Amino acid sequence: MRTMFYLKRIIGYILGFVLFYEPFMYFYEFVSQFVFEMGFTSIHVPCARIPLTQILTGDILNAGPISLIFVGLLIVSSFIFGPVFCGKLCPTGALPELLGNIIPNQFKVDVAKYIPPTPIRYGFTAGFLFSTYLGIETPCTFCNYYTLELFVEYIFFGKLVQTSLSLLLTFVLWLFVLGIFTKGGRGYCNYLCPVGAMNNFMHYLGTFIPGTFKMRVNENKCVGCRVCEDRCPMRSIKVDDHLAQINIHNCIICGVCKEYCPAKAISYSNKESKSE
Ligand code: SF4
Ligand code: SF4
Repeated sequence: MRTMFYLKRIIGYILGFVLFYEPFMYFYEFVSQFVFEMGFTSIHVPCARIPLTQILTGDILNAGPISLIFVGLLIVSSFIFGPVFCGKLCPTGALPELLGNIIPNQFKVDVAKYIPPTPIRYGFTAGFLFSTYLGIETPCTFCNYYTLELFVEYIFFGKLVQTSLSLLLTFVLWLFVLGIFTKGGRGYCNYLCPVGAMNNFMHYLGTFIPGTFKMRVNENKCVGCRVCEDRCPMRSIKVDDHLAQINIHNCIICGVCKEYCPAKAISYSNKESKSE
């Protein structure tokens, strides 16, 4: 049963990889049938970070149409369904989480216990956007999507690209320090991904509208066992007073809590039940 759950998750991340990464880039291949896009194929083409900064600085006319379409899809899907891209498709977020499962827990730090993710991720994103407004080029300098692309090119194609110190640091932070050696494996997603922060902010706004989807805890079923709290890759569940509570600002709808809850108290739904 759990094998099927992880198999489905892995298939989702492989799909994400073939949609956005070379040599496949199927998202680019598909969308470029309908819009004209100059140039090269790379993770930079459907990048969601660059247009965020371009929108903010009033440079939207120079944003790539494919990346704008991607940002639009992220905004709409996160508003209605939550950050499903982060939880079900993004291979960059998933890789350290999945690899981290082979590292024994005694070697991992539960960073979120000491540093609260919500203010840091929104604060970091605000700083990222503001620095661009000041003319400082930040989108690619700490991009974990880009480091994965460079990593894959090196491993599979032997292509060694000269890279910057900031990208090397990003690689170490994303895959190791905030990755496999952080409990949950998604420390980079939690603290340093502006796209993830945007998706969660849209998810938060969506919760004000009836009919949108989110993870829900049934308080009549929850027995406060803390299994979900322990398993959540984003460290977004806290059990208080024997009841699990999900933080809407960093839950990525991965479904791990739902899968592991022994009381079947967690669901992903667009319907409010009286006991939630
Ligand atoms: S795993 Fe289920 S029963 Fe246990 S605390 Fe979480 S929601 Fe409640
Ligand atoms: S609360 Fe559940 S669905 Fe949300 S990130 Fe944590 S484990 Fe995934």
